[in-house]
Amino acid sequence: MRTNAGEQKGDVIVVATDANQSRMLLGGDNVAMSYSSTWYHAIDSDLISSKHLRVATKPPLINSVVISNVAASYAPQGKSLISSTTLRDITASAADRAVAELWGISESEIEMVARYEIPHSLPLHLPGKGLQAQQRLSEKLFIAGDNRTFPAQQGALLSGRLVAEAIIADR
Ligand SMILES: Cc1cc2nc3c(=O)[nH]c(=O)nc-3n(C[C@H](O)[C@H](O)[C@H](O)COP(=O)(O)OP(=O)(O)OC[C@H]3O[C@@H](n4cnc5c(N)ncnc54)[C@H](O)[C@@H]3O)c2cc1C
Repeated sequence: MRTNAGEQKGDVIVVATDANQSRMLLGGDNVAMSYSSTWYHAIDSDLISSKHLRVATKPPLINSVVISNVAASYAPQGKSLISSTTLRDITASAADRAVAELWGISESEIEMVARYEIPHSLPLHLPGKGLQAQQRLSEKLFIAGDNRTFPAQQGALLSGRLVAEAIIADR
């Protein structure tokens, strides 16, 4: 096998890249991916004490967390940092409004500090799609990743475990 770290030899190959890199390496159809944006807002640190992820009940937000309440070094003294996710392109003022509403604070109390757009953030997983796709492509070639199960760290870990179990079972 040829890699950017030179020629490698192995009994088994597991391709564990993101979905579309896997397609480039192995062929097959492109996987439809979701877009997402992560918004960061600063607030005074005495406004919200929750360490929990808050799930939005209506668009445009998916969820939001005061991330510096979990990792204190993510905000300077006296400030807190909120991280929020949207699945579509919205304006900064719409994001301010939605984040303030979700946390029950005033828009004048939050300040947008950054926004990251991730065009191909996760494999699109529509209703009806199964939770486990084929991972063995031939006797010694496997594919692993969240695109073979479901788009989350749990899905990626499950996929890796299933491949490992299949390889061990072959021995
Ligand atoms: C903004 C965002 C927020 C998220 N939040 C959460 C969350 O809160 N909870 C949760 O459970 N999940 C979350 N996820 C999803 C989670 O990150 C993914 O489901 C998980 O990382 C997928 O793991 P993976 O191993 O399948 O792929 P990846 O994590 O994409 O790993 C693939 C690896 O392959 C490498 N690679 C690519 N091409 C090559 C190549 N040619 N050669 C060698 N290496 C290559 C890449 O650099 C990468 O390291 C989030 C994802 C995003 C984008």
